[in-house]
Amino acid sequence: MLRVDGLSAWYGEAQALREVSMRVDEGEIVTLVGRNGAGKTTLLRCLMGLHGAYGRTAGTISLFDEDITGLAPHARARGGLGYVPDDRGIYATLSVEENLTLAPVRKAGGAAGPEPWSLERVYETFPHLKERRRSPGTTLSGGEQQMLVLARVLRTGARLLLCDEPTEGLSPLFVQRIGEILREVRAAGTTVLLVEQNVHFAATVADRHYLLAEGRIVESLDRDQVREREHQLLEYLGI
Ligand code: ATP
Repeated sequence: MLRVDGLSAWYGEAQALREVSMRVDEGEIVTLVGRNGAGKTTLLRCLMGLHGAYGRTAGTISLFDEDITGLAPHARARGGLGYVPDDRGIYATLSVEENLTLAPVRKAGGAAGPEPWSLERVYETFPHLKERRRSPGTTLSGGEQQMLVLARVLRTGARLLLCDEPTEGLSPLFVQRIGEILREVRAAGTTVLLVEQNVHFAATVADRHYLLAEGRIVESLDRDQVREREHQLLEYLGI
């Protein structure tokens, strides 16, 4: 579904990604694990076409065998990519419902993509958001804000979700709920690439993992390998 070949990225003269090659197959949940500063956010931004504001890139990115390297972010979104940034990007002065209905609902992934989520379906899956639908987005708790951003991107019918640390700073109950939702999302036809520092969560939710260090993919691990090496990975990540 997604294929990255020899992707490099720079901030000015400083190189943040070095010849990254990886793939995500349809129906998978894949995590990118790595220490702070390893390049995880930069990689997601490159995939979404957002790195151009910061510096240059090299390498190729293809989605469904189509080269999307030169496409603008909105064209990538139309092609089926959905992005959940780490700063969440909620509109502060708008209510929860306005945040959910602002973007036009469209079938981002074309005919073969999953159905965009209706408002009813969002409220069924995220009852907290229904209760808070008239409140300004920023009065929500961190967990509720994360739910709002996930729900907003699911309303586009994205085929591949790029999620930047959705569990960061959340209580265990919300972390568990995010895990359930990601599995539900996958069952409904959306593939997920997830940046994650919480190795235990990553091991529970994902099929495969890439370990990123100093801008390079240094290991590719399956679910069992991560479970076996959970303690070693936690130590490596400094958690
Ligand atoms: P974190 O978990 O802390 O977000 P990360 O793995 O996502 O880390 P990136 O944010 O992608 O890492 O950063 C990769 C490298 O690029 C780091 O050395 C970082 O200092 C540098 N970097 C990131 N953003 C910028 C920027 N806007 N300008 C200059 N350098 C940057």
